Amino acid sequence: FLANYCLTWSGSHVVADLRVDMLKHIQKQSMQFHGRIDVGQLMSRATGDPAMVQMIIQTMLMELAQAPFEILISVGFIIWFAITNQMLPTLAIIVVGFPLFMVPVVTLSKAIRKWSRKTLERSSVVGSRMHEILTCIKAVKAYNCEEFENAKYLDTNKNLLKSTLRAVRLGLFVGPSVETVGIFLICAFIVWCFFANVTLANILPMLAPLLLIYKPLKQLSKLQVQIEQGRASLQRIWSLMDVNMELPENPNAVEKKTFEDKIVFDNVSFKYDTAEQDAVSRASFEIRKGSFVAVVGTTGSGKSTMSALLSRFFDPREGSVKMDGVDLKDIRILDLRRLVGAVQQETTLFNESIEENIKYGTPNATHEEVVNAAKLANAHAFIMSQPEGYSRLCGEKGLALSGGERQRIAIARAILKNPPILILDEATSA
Ligand code: ADP
Ligand code: MG
Repeated sequence: FLANYCLTWSGSHVVADLRVDMLKHIQKQSMQFHGRIDVGQLMSRATGDPAMVQMIIQTMLMELAQAPFEILISVGFIIWFAITNQMLPTLAIIVVGFPLFMVPVVTLSKAIRKWSRKTLERSSVVGSRMHEILTCIKAVKAYNCEEFENAKYLDTNKNLLKSTLRAVRLGLFVGPSVETVGIFLICAFIVWCFFANVTLANILPMLAPLLLIYKPLKQLSKLQVQIEQGRASLQRIWSLMDVNMELPENPNAVEKKTFEDKIVFDNVSFKYDTAEQDAVSRASFEIRKGSFVAVVGTTGSGKSTMSALLSRFFDPREGSVKMDGVDLKDIRILDLRRLVGAVQQETTLFNESIEENIKYGTPNATHEEVVNAAKLANAHAFIMSQPEGYSRLCGEKGLALSGGERQRIAIARAILKNPPILILDEATSA
């Protein structure tokens, strides 16, 4: 009971820590990273892979605690016996021949790891298809694409099935192949004994420990299969943890608590990683404190991008954005995000109550302040017209509300935060 419980305890703790670390790491990445990732895949990596690692840690520790010990003792006895009875040629043969047992394990390991990794990758693809279908379910239904999606999903599942079975086959093959090799080795050994005139009585004390080794060795080879699967998971976790697309904070970044004078865009150009052309090119303008500025342009002309530059979700490729003469790169990100509030073009809400959504980012606000902000955002009336009022749940991504209602709640949230600089990115379009 204790052994099992302790191992499960440590395995679960390692994995819980790993999950939290992964979330921290993912949240730290810049919007360039988040603009590129596949959410479904990332979710399977962040939750599925650590679970795999947990299983490995548990079984591995359990078996590893015993098997090597048994092997070492048996090997020690064989060597001692051979030396005291002057049977060095026999010992030499055993020392050379015995590791051959492991040949199938070593050769199969690589293939097992490869197919385990493929299996994990394909299961991520399955997860990502499901995520995508559910996210776009309205379009799927409206355009009668259920069958099309079914076929695609079936395909990805077939791929997954293929690699799963392949990995399993390879894993199961390890045991029989170790046994086959073992039988051949033992036959060869017996033949050698016959020609070398070694009698059974002579080697019997050596054979007994050899047989004792057999069980733990088989255990270890089975373990090797699991280790390879775990390594495939770990590799994927590390490759995610190695991504470094953080928006760097200047180590000498200055504290900035207030906005005093003006914002200046100085010859700013910016290109998304994945795009060919600049989304914003050579933009220069100035916004004084206390003024309202409207940016007008055709769709895709870079309005949202400029607002993202002002929030410093990205850094310009060329030129600079300055607030009161200080480059945004030199302001502590925490301070900057306090000074700049934005209502994004696409508002998604958390599946919590309306009140909690408005309070998001201002957790200490009182109910009165929330109501005031909602009134200013022209949201109070529609909220009160519902039976649950402010405690009504917003639904997944806020989709239980209309587009305009979502926008008003997002505006109320920005008003409650009351930042000196407020960006409304087509915030009243609905
Ligand atoms: P709008 O003026 O309509 O708000 P945007 O600033 O959203 O325009 O987009 C400007 C240009 O940048 C568009 O051509 C768009 O295709 C491109 N773009 C926007 N977001 C991304 C992204 N995450 N990755 C690559 N290109 C993008
Ligand atoms: Mg836009």
